[in-house]
Amino acid sequence: MSVAARLGRLRAAMAAAELPALLVSQPDSRRYLSGYSATDIPPRESSGYLLITEDRQFLLTDPRTAALAEQECPDYEVRTYGGGVRMTELLRDTASTVGVRVLGFDAEHVPYALWRAVTEALEKTTDVKPAPPLVDELRMIKDAEEIAALRASIALNEAAFAHLARTVHSGSTELELAWEMENFVRTHGGEDVSFPPITVAGPNSAIPHAVPSGRPVQADELVLFDIGAKLDGYCSDMTRTVGIGTVRDRLREVWDVVLGAQLAAEDAVRPGMTGAEVDDIARQYITKAGFGERFIHGLGHGIGLEIHEPPWLTQTRGTDVLQPGMVFSIEPGVYLPDLGGVRIEDLVLLTENGAEVLSGSPKKFLLSEVLLDLDR
Ligand code: ZN
Ligand code: ZN
Repeated sequence: MSVAARLGRLRAAMAAAELPALLVSQPDSRRYLSGYSATDIPPRESSGYLLITEDRQFLLTDPRTAALAEQECPDYEVRTYGGGVRMTELLRDTASTVGVRVLGFDAEHVPYALWRAVTEALEKTTDVKPAPPLVDELRMIKDAEEIAALRASIALNEAAFAHLARTVHSGSTELELAWEMENFVRTHGGEDVSFPPITVAGPNSAIPHAVPSGRPVQADELVLFDIGAKLDGYCSDMTRTVGIGTVRDRLREVWDVVLGAQLAAEDAVRPGMTGAEVDDIARQYITKAGFGERFIHGLGHGIGLEIHEPPWLTQTRGTDVLQPGMVFSIEPGVYLPDLGGVRIEDLVLLTENGAEVLSGSPKKFLLSEVLLDLDR
């Protein structure tokens, strides 16, 4: 874990923003900057707070996780609250020891109650103010260690997809397929799935974020597998849509359009484009084919420690300029109510020359073709 390098980059960004100290509470940002892996049940996540100043870094935690913090964060001064001492009191004492006059907080992620408690505790000594999303910006560009972790997570997810392709048959229920996914990940080294598996078929596949049901998959339906694993903190995410048996021509037409749109975007993406511009390439392709109204979500999202993180490849939020080292999804979809939906999703690593597609699982319309590819 290159904690020292990441702290160096953060401090440079803090200096540029004229921010002498930063409080970090978002669990993935905390892990990114320290290696500390503990988490707590959201939204009142309280397993630790980083206080980062120009030359020191503290991890404030409570006795339940203090030993883990000492073990995982040798670069940090670990301080423990509890036993009658509140986190805000420990923060105030620590901040006053090192003379913090101005403290930025992560405005995107701090709940109002925490903001109020910190502001009240520090009101006599420190100006507490919202900071720009400095850590989120650092996290958008993956370092070599992160890219290796993402590749490993993707490899596990692809093995899970191969398992699902070999398992699914007409009569499998959507919930059974979701369980197969969870079971595979946890019995093959993953710590968890990166999100609840979307293993849905027929009419349910026409809802982009459908919830798997007890309904059995029919032979003439498309099955949509949107699945992800979590390994060493890093998420993977991939969608494949396959026909189990004889599927209607209308759905094959949609499938071909979605794949065409995806390949067009993967081919065209370059550093310097905005996420919205890449979204537009896939959107125009689908619109020309007559399905523009049925592409009802954005083209993609960044991925890393979180399943959905910046940059966004959407019309509304796609303002970030894409840069080498970013890893994001490209996942166009077309959804025909009552009939079915098609989404095909890869993760790509942006390089100077364009996209390196990291997802290697076969993209074939029929399950029989997928199985042939997998056995090759
Ligand atoms: Zn997905
Ligand atoms: Zn995705």
